[in-house]
Amino acid sequence: MEAVMVRYGEIFLKSEPVKRRFISIMTENIRLALEAEGLSHRIETPRGRVLIFGDEPRRIAAAVAGTFGVVSVSVCTVTTADIPGIAAAAVEHAEWHLRPGMSFAVRARRSGVEGFNSQELAAEVGSAVLDRVPEATVNLTTPDYEVFVEAREFGGLVYDEKISGPGGLPYGTQGEVMALLSAGIDSPVASWLMMRRGCLMVHVHMHSGRFGGADSEKNVLQNHARLSRWVPGHPVDLLVVDMEPFFEAITALKEPRYRCILCKRFMLRVASILAEERGAYALVNGDNLGQVASQTLANMTVIAPAATVPVLRPLIGFDKEEIIERARAIGTFEAHPGSVGCTVAPRYPSTAAPAATIAQIEAVLDVESLAVRAAGTVRRYRAKNGEVEGER
Ligand code: ATP
Ligand code: MG
Repeated sequence: MEAVMVRYGEIFLKSEPVKRRFISIMTENIRLALEAEGLSHRIETPRGRVLIFGDEPRRIAAAVAGTFGVVSVSVCTVTTADIPGIAAAAVEHAEWHLRPGMSFAVRARRSGVEGFNSQELAAEVGSAVLDRVPEATVNLTTPDYEVFVEAREFGGLVYDEKISGPGGLPYGTQGEVMALLSAGIDSPVASWLMMRRGCLMVHVHMHSGRFGGADSEKNVLQNHARLSRWVPGHPVDLLVVDMEPFFEAITALKEPRYRCILCKRFMLRVASILAEERGAYALVNGDNLGQVASQTLANMTVIAPAATVPVLRPLIGFDKEEIIERARAIGTFEAHPGSVGCTVAPRYPSTAAPAATIAQIEAVLDVESLAVRAAGTVRRYRAKNGEVEGER
């Protein structure tokens, strides 16, 4: 019989009640992920271990390896909790991989089982492997092949492969946050990092209408849909706000240098209104120190106070290459995004806008009313399992 063993990292460090709560949220998310793939299964949690039984263990392992909170998974052979049973399964695994001249190691663990300790278990399994493949050698420091064996009160487990998961904390163990999602590369990565940290996610996009690229909304919806794949079974909302009236207002100003600062402040203002309406704790954006003029330290300091809820910036210290690498791994990187540029951005944006000047301009524009009006234009797109369900 085979079972998929799930390893979780940091959850181990939590107190017992917190650990129980996190594991139960994680197993529910695993259940939803397997249901979305149509994989019938049974989840057991003997002594903090998460084991999944089902007809297609390899497909189960692949689906579970995408779940937040999971550090790695292994497809295990389940045996009786005694040395002969475990050794027989280990020999079968080793025979597949060990060629003459290759070295190997047996890594053994034992708990809740009497009659032998883990060293004895490792030694016995090792000699059973050598009996079957006598040309192999034992090397405990740098083996070519490792077989892992565990004796537990519920049985023995034998495996030799680990599939890495995303790590982090189970989705839903933290509160809700609202990520400002654009058609670009950074913000989907920022959203993903906070989802991986357990935050329930809602997306918000500021649509610039005729001032933005023709492909912006299509790409945002694609980013939104792709991110929802990481939390199967959970609906994720995208709120789309109409920013066109605001762009009309700032393009009528004489001075184009401050447009990006005004725009970023406006986005934070509107997103704060929407976050407060829903009770989301914080905003998330893809700001990255020094990336563009609006992300100099001086400008970020002028932009930040426009938010009335905390703003999380998980990418602040990343290099662009690291962000791109992440975006590729997450599946949101788009090599040919089409026309997503902003036509309002000035040629020479200010890299250090004076806060007092910005305040004056905003008073003239009456940005507060513009923000309230913009927050009233929300269109909602719900995504689930990688599909957008349409406007609501
Ligand atoms: P990205 O940073 O996602 O690649 P971008 O480069 O177009 O997109 P920036 O000018 O770097 O955006 O803006 C910084 C952050 O502001 C983005 O990471 C995103 O969180 C937010 N943002 C930018 N444009 C929009 C928009 N139209 N709607 C919602 N959020 C936006
Ligand atoms: Mg950016």
